[in-house]
Amino acid sequence: MKVQFLGAAQTVTGSCYMLEACGKRFCVDCGMHQGNKAIEKRNRETEVYRPTDIDFVLLTHAHIDHSGLLPRMVREGYSNPVYCTRATSELLDIMLQDSAHIQEMEAQWEARKYQRRGLSNPPDALYTTEDAQKTSTLFHTVDYHTPFEPAPGIRVVYYDAGHILGSGTLRIEINDNGKTVSLIFSGDIGRPQSLIVRDPENPPKADYVFMESTYGDRDHKSKEVSVDELAQAIAYSYGKGEKVIIPAFAVERAQEVLYCLHALNREGKLPEDMPVFVDSPLAIRATKVFEQHCNLFDDDAKDLLCNGENPFSLPNLRYTLSVEESRAINDHKGPAIIISASGMCNAGRVRHHLRHNIWKPGASIVFVGYQAMGTPGRSIVNKAKKITLFGEDTEIAARIVTINGFSAHAGQSQLQDWLAPLVHDKVKVVLVHGDNGAQATLAGLIQQRFGVTPFIPVHHEELQLTPADEPVRHTAPAQPRVNWDFLTGELERKWGMLKTKMDSMHARPWVEQTDVQEALEKLDYALTRTLSRM
Ligand SMILES: [Zn+2]
Ligand SMILES: [Zn+2]
Repeated sequence: MKVQFLGAAQTVTGSCYMLEACGKRFCVDCGMHQGNKAIEKRNRETEVYRPTDIDFVLLTHAHIDHSGLLPRMVREGYSNPVYCTRATSELLDIMLQDSAHIQEMEAQWEARKYQRRGLSNPPDALYTTEDAQKTSTLFHTVDYHTPFEPAPGIRVVYYDAGHILGSGTLRIEINDNGKTVSLIFSGDIGRPQSLIVRDPENPPKADYVFMESTYGDRDHKSKEVSVDELAQAIAYSYGKGEKVIIPAFAVERAQEVLYCLHALNREGKLPEDMPVFVDSPLAIRATKVFEQHCNLFDDDAKDLLCNGENPFSLPNLRYTLSVEESRAINDHKGPAIIISASGMCNAGRVRHHLRHNIWKPGASIVFVGYQAMGTPGRSIVNKAKKITLFGEDTEIAARIVTINGFSAHAGQSQLQDWLAPLVHDKVKVVLVHGDNGAQATLAGLIQQRFGVTPFIPVHHEELQLTPADEPVRHTAPAQPRVNWDFLTGELERKWGMLKTKMDSMHARPWVEQTDVQEALEKLDYALTRTLSRM
C-alpha cells in the first residue's frame, strides 16, 4: 500500500494523491497545476499519472486545482468512475466546460503567436470541451455519511468539509492482505462561520491525516471586519466616480460576495445608483446551482430563504453572459462594482476590466481570495508597480485592497482546531496544499500543541502506507534543479559580444542607433524588474 504525491506538495495547486492498494490504483483529486510556466508544464507531463492505469477517482470538491486535470486524463484514455457528491458533479459540469473553453482559447492565442513568429507546431489545447463533456459522463454521485466500496477492500465515506458547496473530507479504510489502514484526506478545510455553507465536520480518527495547510501561517480577520473593508472600498471608489473590480473565483466566492452585498444593501451601505455586474458566465451558472442546493446551506442562509429572500439578489444587479454585454461594461460611465473571474487574474474577463481600470487612481481592485505564486493576482497583491496585461505593461494606480476574511479556507488556529479531535498517540499527519513558509509554521505549531511531527512531502514523493504502529517510510525523488551556470554563462557571453559591437555603434546612422537604443532600454528594464524580484 502506498501513496504518491503528484501535486500540491509544498505548493497549493495540482492536488492529486495516487494510491495503490488491494491491487487497485486510484487517486484522490486530479487538480490542475496553476502558476508560472514551469509549474503549468506539469499539466502536460501526464506519464507519471498513467491515465489508462487508474481504476477510479475520488474527488473532494469542484475547485479546478482539485479537478481540472480530469479532462486531460480522459483525453488520454481514462474512462473509469469519478466519485463525488451531487453538488460537486453539478458544479463540475459547468466548471470543466469553462476550463476547457479557456484551454481552447489559450491554444488559439498561442497558435497565432507561433504564426506571427513564423514557427510551426504550436501546442494543442490541454483539453477540449468535448473532453470535458466526456468527463461529466463518468461522475458517480455519493451522499455524505454513506459508506461505499469503489473496489473490494476499499471503503470510503464523505464528510462535509464546509469549504464550498458539495465539498468533502474523505475517510478511507483499506483492508489489504490482512492489514488495515485508515486514512483521512481533509480536502480543502472550510472556515467555521463562513457565509453560506455549513461548518466543517470531523470524521472519526484514522491512522493517517493528510491535511491542507494553505493558511498555516496566519489567521483570517473576522467576517464583520471583512464586510466593513468591502463597504469602505465601495465608498472610496463611489466617491471618486470610479469602479470597484472584484476578481473572484466563480464558485462560492462570487456567491459570497453577492451575499455580502445583499447584507450591505439591507443596511443601506450600498449606493443605490451603483450597479453591480456579475461578469462571469461561470459565476452566473454556479449561482443557479447554489440556489438549487439550499439544503446544504448553514442556518443563517437558510433563515433568509425561509423569509422569502434570495441571498444572492440585489436591486441593481446585472448578469452579463455575452461578450458584447461584458464589453459594454467598459462604456458604462460612473461608479460600478464588477465581480469577475478568474480569481487570480491569470485568465478570463477580469483581465479586461483590470486593463480598463487598474491605472486609474480612484478605482479599487478588491482581492477576496487566495493568490497563488506566479499569478498576476499575487504580483498585484505584493505591491507590483506595473502589471503585464495582454502583452502590455500597465501602471498600477488603483487602490489595492486585500480582504482575507472571505477565505473559504480555515485559518491557522482553525486548522489546528480541526486536527485536534483527530490526534491520538500514533497518528501520522501529512501536510499538503500549502507554500513552504505556511507549512513550516503550521508544522511547528502542531508539534508544540500535539507533540506530533508532521511529514511534509515533496512533489512525486512516495509514502508507504503502514499500519499505525510502524513509522513513516518514504522515498524522495531527486528534485529538479535550475541550470543557473548555463544561464548566467550565456548572459555573460552575450554581454561580452554586445560590448565589442558597441565600439562601432557611433559610426552607424542615427536612426539605426535609436533602434538599438530602444532595444537595450527594454533589456535594461527587464533586468531591473528581475533584480527587484530577487
Ligand atoms: Zn478548494
Ligand atoms: Zn484547493
